[in-house]
Amino acid sequence: MSETGLLFTRAYSQQAMSGRVDELTDIYQYAFAQAPWNEVGKCAKNEKTPTCPDGFSALQVGSFCTACELIVEQPAYSDEELRKKFTKPEDAEHHTVWYLEETGAGKISLAVLARITTAQGLRNIAFENNKPMQEWISSKYNNPGQSVVWIEDIFADTSIRESGNLKNFGDMCRQIATGSGESSEIAIRTLNPKVVSAAKRDFGTKCKIYDPVFNEVPDRGRFIKIAGL
Ligand SMILES: [Zn+2]
Repeated sequence: MSETGLLFTRAYSQQAMSGRVDELTDIYQYAFAQAPWNEVGKCAKNEKTPTCPDGFSALQVGSFCTACELIVEQPAYSDEELRKKFTKPEDAEHHTVWYLEETGAGKISLAVLARITTAQGLRNIAFENNKPMQEWISSKYNNPGQSVVWIEDIFADTSIRESGNLKNFGDMCRQIATGSGESSEIAIRTLNPKVVSAAKRDFGTKCKIYDPVFNEVPDRGRFIKIAGL
């Protein structure tokens, strides 16, 4: 455990976090409802009007979405869906590591969910139902057995620390990657420009950023690869 300001940083196994799933769920739902995600609800599915990316909407359940002209049907992230995500059974292909920044009283201010896996595992875990991304991953990693730390989610309780939640980003990546016991590469898919800035700030030329704006990745978010930690 080390201290950063008044916060303590620590990595946890999935098992160690099993009693804190509700706490993580609350922070996750709250965090992703804010900008830049604005993921509050999910619009009804209609192949003919795929206006809202991935179906996410900034509107509450029951509202009419003028972008896709459908009713918002479900919350962006249900308790059940998040419980599944946070307790995903580990297997030969991956295990889960949590990195937390906590107050002295043990309140979570920042949570990072990482899957210790391989390039092949990345295809299956991160992009299970996404053929274009699976093919893209294969084209970017020559060796399917290459170890990869997939940073699946980074979310903060901004009521504890309003800004500067990525101050410790570089150390966080190193702590997770070295904890995995190998010199792994880091992979992150993000919609958050602050994560991209933090990666550039802390890793410079060691990080490569693929941007959908420039058709560098067939996805809604940017993909960051960090090698040589
Ligand atoms: Zn919509």
